[in-house]
Amino acid sequence: MLPWLKSPLQQLAERKLSNKLHHALLMQGPQGLGKSEFAQQLSAILLCNNLQGIRPCENCHSCHLHKAGSHPDKHEVRSEKQIGVDQIRDAIKKLSGSAQLSGAKVLIIYQAHSMTESSANALLKTLEEPTANTYIVMLSHKAQQLLPTILSRCEKLALPLPTLEQAKAWLQVHWPEKIDERLIAMYQHSPLSLLAELGEEQSVGFTDFTSGIDALIKGQLDPVTLATNWQPEAEKLVRWLQFWLAKQVQELGEFNDKLWSLQQRCISAQKILRNAGANKILIFSSLLNELTQLNKQ
Ligand SMILES: [Zn+2]
Repeated sequence: MLPWLKSPLQQLAERKLSNKLHHALLMQGPQGLGKSEFAQQLSAILLCNNLQGIRPCENCHSCHLHKAGSHPDKHEVRSEKQIGVDQIRDAIKKLSGSAQLSGAKVLIIYQAHSMTESSANALLKTLEEPTANTYIVMLSHKAQQLLPTILSRCEKLALPLPTLEQAKAWLQVHWPEKIDERLIAMYQHSPLSLLAELGEEQSVGFTDFTSGIDALIKGQLDPVTLATNWQPEAEKLVRWLQFWLAKQVQELGEFNDKLWSLQQRCISAQKILRNAGANKILIFSSLLNELTQLNKQ
């Protein structure tokens, strides 16, 4: 289990044991925090037929099926873009019968904020009148986008964020090479995203990034040249720039609205960069240009 999520998981397990667990839970936290892992562990606890204290036994039929990913009472809804109404209706239908293994039924909805309005409305009735022993676990890093009617019908749980030390220790176990501490600090709340990123082939590493930004600020490199060099990994590098700016805002001690708004622009730029036809150099160089302007003031 991820060390920073251990204690909320234990609390939920204890509430399940004393029959005080809400049937609809909304887990909130940034991407890369470990919400999916948390939901998986929680569903193992909810479905186990022979809990050992607050842990799944890992030996019962239910635990075996859960581990194999084929538990008939565990359902999941996810989508790359939007969660359509048919997906929700289908999931509700599966929940409506009695449990096949005579235990609980669990539905996990990943990125719950990507439910369309009709999907959310289709889910409402089930949230209001759940069938017995049914748990709906929703995950979201943008919970504010969920309909108020959904929000008011579930228990909201803001998952704790790892400390820098926890993130560092966890990454050390999972990644054999040394990681730049500044990079870990930037990803402190999203260590799983950093681990995934490290596993990808990288043409521009973190040292290239920091030295590039440094040269840009000193006027030794111009935004277009840098954007051209970084174009093949534009999406990742704009994300780094966003995290780097957020860190600067944090370290300044006082709120800087220009740094903040550039940071926000980096978030929107990442979305645009995902489109195949996006002009990467133009988008990236305009962000870098704005960064040089900030420093002149
Ligand atoms: Zn079990």
